[in-house]
Amino acid sequence: MVENLFSVIAASVPCLGKKDGWRWKPAKDGAFSTKSAYETIKMAKGEPDAGYNKALAKVWEAPNPHKARVTAWRSLRNRLATCDNLLKMNVPIEIEERWCNACVAYEETVEHIFLHCPES
Ligand SMILES: [Zn+2]
Repeated sequence: MVENLFSVIAASVPCLGKKDGWRWKPAKDGAFSTKSAYETIKMAKGEPDAGYNKALAKVWEAPNPHKARVTAWRSLRNRLATCDNLLKMNVPIEIEERWCNACVAYEETVEHIFLHCPES
């Protein structure tokens, strides 16, 4: 981090007659915005898979009842109230209640319910 700081300082060119201030590097005008922060984070994480985005869009085009489309969309986004997601939100769940309700052999996750559960 120190070496990085020195390289940033060495690359800086002082400007006479300009007031000192903060500059948000990712934005062209140097002004911070939540949009530019979001774009920076998105770029750092990499673009989402195009197939994934297509699948999300197809969910809303399907002729299924709205409730089924919402459930499909939430499952693709991993936003269902499964035990693992509830635990991530610090919802207290007893250990014996964390298993899949259908097979009672594995932890309840979106992947398990829709892809791996032998009962569902
Ligand atoms: Zn199961």
